[in-house]
Amino acid sequence: MKTVLEPFRIKAVEPFRITTEAERTGLLAEAHHNLFRLRAEDVMIDLLTDSGTGAMSAQQWAAIMTGDESYAGSKSFYELEHVVRELTGYRHVFPVHQGRAAERILFGCAVLPGQAVPNNAHFDTTRANVEYLGAAAVDFVAPQARDLRDAAAWKGDLDVARLAAWLDAQPPGTVPLGLLTITNNRVGGQPVSMQNLRDVSALYRRHGIPFFLDAARFAENAWWIHRLDPEWRDVPLPRIARAMFDLADGCMISAKKDGLVNIGGLLCLNDDALAAKVRNLLILTEGFPTYGGLAGRDLAALAQGLREVLDPDYLHYREASAHYLGEHLDRLGVPVVRPFGLHAVYVDARAMLPQIAPHELPGQALACELYLQGGIRSVEIGTLMFGRTEHGRPVVAEHDLVRLCLPRRVYTQSHVDWVVESFAEVHARRAGLRGLRIVEEAPFLRAFTARLQPVAAPHPALV
Ligand SMILES: *Cc1c(COP(=O)(O)O)cnc(C)c1O
Repeated sequence: MKTVLEPFRIKAVEPFRITTEAERTGLLAEAHHNLFRLRAEDVMIDLLTDSGTGAMSAQQWAAIMTGDESYAGSKSFYELEHVVRELTGYRHVFPVHQGRAAERILFGCAVLPGQAVPNNAHFDTTRANVEYLGAAAVDFVAPQARDLRDAAAWKGDLDVARLAAWLDAQPPGTVPLGLLTITNNRVGGQPVSMQNLRDVSALYRRHGIPFFLDAARFAENAWWIHRLDPEWRDVPLPRIARAMFDLADGCMISAKKDGLVNIGGLLCLNDDALAAKVRNLLILTEGFPTYGGLAGRDLAALAQGLREVLDPDYLHYREASAHYLGEHLDRLGVPVVRPFGLHAVYVDARAMLPQIAPHELPGQALACELYLQGGIRSVEIGTLMFGRTEHGRPVVAEHDLVRLCLPRRVYTQSHVDWVVESFAEVHARRAGLRGLRIVEEAPFLRAFTARLQPVAAPHPALV
């Protein structure tokens, strides 16, 4: 059988309003061509992010009803602690309200101004939390990640040779901790190999640097290792996950991804002295350490989500969903980034729309057109997000991509077919698409609030 079944039935539905292209034209203009400014109810298929947008299982909803709302020492906390210890092996388990709270608390306890934190690639909030403390966030992206089309596996790896040379050049005591992000979100949800995890771990150990995983998508990374690495083909997924966690001294997890919940996060570690510091800082802003800014019911749903996420049938369906979307776009001639991540498919908008100069935001132009065509919300990962204006001149990003995120257990195959059909229409008229101009932008994180306008004509240099 070729079809990979969604391994669930739908028990509750959330109707959405079917809009017309004429309506969407007005809504897009009102949103100043910035999809973050749209109301979600005006979106039919929302592929903006996979963070906190998944559907919970019947068992998770049942756990919500039995969540213990005691201020201190709730039963739901001890259940969660048990599940997380089984999964990760770490001694200290702190719930937090989401991933960035784990970052802020861990770095707040360990990182000093003038220090530097290495990673395969820092996620936006991770970088921001390092830099906020006056430290440097340094990325060591593997060379194989630079080619968007090359389907080489393990594009999420950290460049160990470069990290080794860099570490040798750092004055002693200036690297308070080392990170590795699994899967590597910044390069398209690409996986990190077990060999790379081992090499990075050994290198940090050799330098006496505590090693933390940024493990938002640990289950998806474990799945790739199972699929692609013969050494792990016959090993159960929980053992693969445990082997990854065993190589590090702790982890930060945004549970809004592989925790299969809509809000939540975890900070886990072994070091008792560090745990004492973390507990104190956590009390200051998140609440008591046995709830960490979450309701008891959130802890209960998270414990159940972590029990479900390493189900091979679920992860196989997840891989099949991304593969289905990616391969169908490829067949239309849409330039897609390879290999496909499990959480998202990325389109190379700069390659698809060569008539639009990078500073006229081909990624945003494509994202807007997809909304007009099909009521689909995607997100530009390119010059609008990472570029800036310096002395009145645009500085463009390395790539202009459009990310199509796949919320967990939310959309069916016909929803994905709708996305593919919308792409077919947009692709057929791609030569007529125009770029966008920023008319108003904030000094940082401009993508969220910028106001944009279509340019009148293609950039003269490209006609
Ligand atoms: C989402 C994410 C975070 C931040 O988590 P939030 O829950 O959004 O605060 C950190 N690192 C990675 C890799 C992520 O994907």
